[in-house]
Amino acid sequence: MNTGEPLTKVGLEVDVPTSRIRGDLLVLTGPSGVGKGTLVQGLIERVDKIKRSVSVTTRPRRPGETDGVEYFFRSRAQFEEMLANHEFMEWAEFAGHLYGTPMAWVYQELDEGRDVILEIEVQGAKQVHSLYPPAVLIFISPPSFEELEERLRLRGTETEEKIQQRLAKAREELLEKNLFQYEVVNDVIDSAVTKLVHIVYAERYRVNTDDTDWSEG
Ligand code: 5GP
Repeated sequence: MNTGEPLTKVGLEVDVPTSRIRGDLLVLTGPSGVGKGTLVQGLIERVDKIKRSVSVTTRPRRPGETDGVEYFFRSRAQFEEMLANHEFMEWAEFAGHLYGTPMAWVYQELDEGRDVILEIEVQGAKQVHSLYPPAVLIFISPPSFEELEERLRLRGTETEEKIQQRLAKAREELLEKNLFQYEVVNDVIDSAVTKLVHIVYAERYRVNTDDTDWSEG
């Protein structure tokens, strides 16, 4: 029975197997407002050798956000120039704004043996999956659609029109969750982070001798 209690009985080793050729690319997807950012933060605090990729976006900065921390905030023209220069691993338009993952940084971190987390929407996750098949795809679900709606409203950063756009997107995204390898329901934050920690470690202990250079493709 799932009581929603944090899993506290499992002692986790924190070493990284030396047989690993490179880090894992973890793609965390789920509807806007589901709490991906909070979970990633928790994961990074609890696991070594893991970094979150900073995306480029044309969305205006929200209060409290800093350029280069949550995102690189750029104009549409700047984004399009990066696109023309093939600088993105994937990109998508979401609720009227462009978002993309800078490619060179991701491959460099993986090659240096660190895990990289992308916190992106479904279309981008699909692109990463076809470009980089070893990527680990994780879907974060809300406990219920009603709860998601409430969280988006409580955040208070979007207009009603934008909230409606994000909810419509969320309905589409929830239909695509079967494309993913793992699902974590974000009901109790600590428990959801623990589940992610388990996934990261399970992936690290996979026997992995694939040295294909996917960045060439
Ligand atoms: P927000 O505007 O709420 O920060 O992000 C909106 C949506 O865009 C979220 O689902 C977020 O995960 C996603 N997103 C953020 N960065 C990227 C990116 O680089 N690529 C893609 N495809 N989606 C992104």
